[in-house]
Amino acid sequence: MNHTESGWKLHNSYAGLPKTLYAPMEANPVPSPELVIANRALAKSLGLDPQQLDSPESLQMFAGNQFPEGSFPLAQAYAGHQFGQFTMLGDGRAILIGEQQTPDGEIFDVQLKGAGITPFSRSGDGRAALGPMLREYMISESMHALGIPTSRSLAVVLTGEKIQRYFAEPGAILTRVASSHIRVGTFQFAAKYRSTEDLKALADYTIKRHFPDITGPDRYIELFRQTAQRQASLIAKWQLAGFVHGVMNTDNMAISGETIDYGPCAFLDRFDESAVFSSIDAGGRYAYRNQPLIGGWNLARFAESLFPLLNEIPEKQALSSLQGALEEYISSEKRLYLSGMREKLGLFTEAPGDEQLIDDLLALMQEKQADYTNTFRFLTFEAVEEPQLANDPAFKDWHSRYKARQQQEGRSAQEILELMKNRNPAVIPRNHRVEAALGAAAQGDYEVMEKLLDILRNPYAHSEEQLPYTAPPPPSTPPYQTYCGT
Ligand code: AMP
Ligand code: MG
Repeated sequence: MNHTESGWKLHNSYAGLPKTLYAPMEANPVPSPELVIANRALAKSLGLDPQQLDSPESLQMFAGNQFPEGSFPLAQAYAGHQFGQFTMLGDGRAILIGEQQTPDGEIFDVQLKGAGITPFSRSGDGRAALGPMLREYMISESMHALGIPTSRSLAVVLTGEKIQRYFAEPGAILTRVASSHIRVGTFQFAAKYRSTEDLKALADYTIKRHFPDITGPDRYIELFRQTAQRQASLIAKWQLAGFVHGVMNTDNMAISGETIDYGPCAFLDRFDESAVFSSIDAGGRYAYRNQPLIGGWNLARFAESLFPLLNEIPEKQALSSLQGALEEYISSEKRLYLSGMREKLGLFTEAPGDEQLIDDLLALMQEKQADYTNTFRFLTFEAVEEPQLANDPAFKDWHSRYKARQQQEGRSAQEILELMKNRNPAVIPRNHRVEAALGAAAQGDYEVMEKLLDILRNPYAHSEEQLPYTAPPPPSTPPYQTYCGT
């Protein structure tokens, strides 16, 4: 495989799957691409020359005008349950240009989001607006810095075209990078609309790509079990960080266990377990507290899509194995969440009553509308004050219980501080900060965004410089709402 001058070493193994699972794509050129932001650190880890990110060759590629050698652009077919309703979907505005092989031999999908109409666009224009693409860039990069598995963002370019949303907006394309874009919905599509051979090819490909150690007659059950375990770990991390994905449809759940498809997502400011940010999630299906449950619901749809492949195993046995793996998902997510919460509280071991201690803190935070991230900073550094809790008698009672529990462990103050500093971020991409960065970007000023990204790059640094970014939104700020498909 050759390198291009910029370091692209592309191949597209997905194109080797049955042709019924994707549509080959041609370039859909845009008139005057202009680079808005590029991720030099990510470029370097992909084996690209960071100096070449603003070269004419790179710009043409980020714009979808010209593809590097070795690419085979395609749109993936998939279906999915959207808010519980099964629908045919597919990449309606994204094309997979190929997979990059990194110097470490890892393989990553490189996808252009907003690259134009595909056979799966339905009534959409295949395009994306600048604001939402920059929003995905900022939030996904921040998730990565927080240690949460996620697709990454390599670049955003303006296309030079206006696209019609509520207003006319500048069109943009995001280049995103992920372990793969195979979704629960990809399996649902193959199971419902394609042959069992096609489904099997997809499953074998997924195993080879993501779970190469899985072999044997139980391999599809094991695929399910390990996918479920990755989701347990991912969703526990979302809960611990106060992240609400917002649109956990089955087509937005990646088999790799990475967070994908940043639409109406947001981080909690004040703690509210029923928080929903999406303008269309009136029923709260994807509310903060429901995420572990919905993860299980989505996994059950994944299990169903694997049924046609389980004919080597007696039906009863297959069903009970899948059921067992789903139960393991539920218990793992809870266990990982609780152990993560203990660490956030500076506790090193498990003790009876911990879950109650955690629940009581969250109930107080909910009642007093305390800021989620800052409450844990407050507990980490006793000098920092969370004003909603500091003088509350119920919180003082809780705090004495907590201190007594911590003392049982006999750890030094230094050890506790180190653990808590590394588990409780100083900064998250707060909605009002992200909005301010987007507002400036809309005026052609990208510095606010660059500065925010810089601050978010080391969320556990707890540096002086980060302090202004720890402030919650002013109390008068209206409830935050985000919109998908924009
Ligand atoms: P999402 O809510 O971003 O996960 O998207 C759901 C589906 O709508 C996917 O199949 C997308 O490819 C498709 N979609 C979203 N926006 C557009 C658009 N502007 N044009 C065509 N398809 C779109
Ligand atoms: Mg999606």
